[in-house]
Amino acid sequence: MEIPPDTRLVALVGDPVAHSLSPRMQAAAFQARGLRWAYLALRVRSQDLREAVAGLRALGFAGANVTIPHKVAVCELVDELDPSARRCGAANTLVFDRGRRVVAFNTDVAGFARALAEHGVAAGGVNAVVLGAGGAARAACAALGQLGSRRVTVMARRPQAAEALCAQMRGEFPGTAFQALPFDPGALEAALRQAELVVNATPVGMHPHEQESPVPDAAWLRAGQVVFDMVYNPPRTRLVRMAEQAGARVVGGLSMLVHQGAAAFELWTGVEAPVEAMKQAVGLLPAEV
Ligand code: NAP
Repeated sequence: MEIPPDTRLVALVGDPVAHSLSPRMQAAAFQARGLRWAYLALRVRSQDLREAVAGLRALGFAGANVTIPHKVAVCELVDELDPSARRCGAANTLVFDRGRRVVAFNTDVAGFARALAEHGVAAGGVNAVVLGAGGAARAACAALGQLGSRRVTVMARRPQAAEALCAQMRGEFPGTAFQALPFDPGALEAALRQAELVVNATPVGMHPHEQESPVPDAAWLRAGQVVFDMVYNPPRTRLVRMAEQAGARVVGGLSMLVHQGAAAFELWTGVEAPVEAMKQAVGLLPAEV
């Protein structure tokens, strides 16, 4: 396939990246808006992240998405953090200013909030549990803080990561009570039984580990609860199926994927994102014939 010299380039930087739907979704968005842009998925190991960011800037890329496991580490490698990234300590979108400055944004926060709104879920005043303490968990916590959740319990297998996340969020969102708990079965069951909103911000259940679920027992979930699984590949994860079995309302990761991608598209191009075309590209809406 020929890529003409005046093509503007955007990269996805992560490890792994093979599962990502972002290349398909962003290519559809560029095409829908008639832009000569291309989006490349690049597998970058943690030890190479610094050189990768510098290299993309030097090569004249217009921007990048940053995904698992680099969203926190990349914040140390940029010239400027937009408040969206600074407030949650993680970034998923970089804008390269014509080879000069690198500015980091977090569009996962807005993507998470828009996905909740699209499903009619009001997070104000709720008691939420967030599983994981990485980049995606930081975005969920910042969104829940912004939306005025009453309590957010962060559960992670590394207690110090959960505590560090909560310490930052307490400073940013004093109206929300953030607490860190260990990701062990006893604490998990007790927290889930009290939660109105459960967010999976771990990769557990993601391809090729579709048989796994961060929640071991569907009986720990219930009707009336909202379960938000950020994992989108497969679209119906084991956790989503367990939540449906328990009668809970489900928000799948594809909705957030589209909305965070739409916000990133607008930062790179300055053009309104074609959200319908992006939904079609990831299978959330039937494709036009
Ligand atoms: P990350 O920064 O690597 O963080 C992952 C978190 O999950 C860490 O706290 C990690 O704990 C924990 N974890 C990993 N494996 C676990 C396991 N087996 N049991 C318990 N905890 C485990 O990754 P991320 O960027 O936050 O992404 C997390 C997931 O969210 C990925 O599947 C990603 O694709 C998805 N995501 C989706 C969207 C969307 O738009 N739908 C947006 C962002 C992220 P340790 O630190 O102990 O390893």
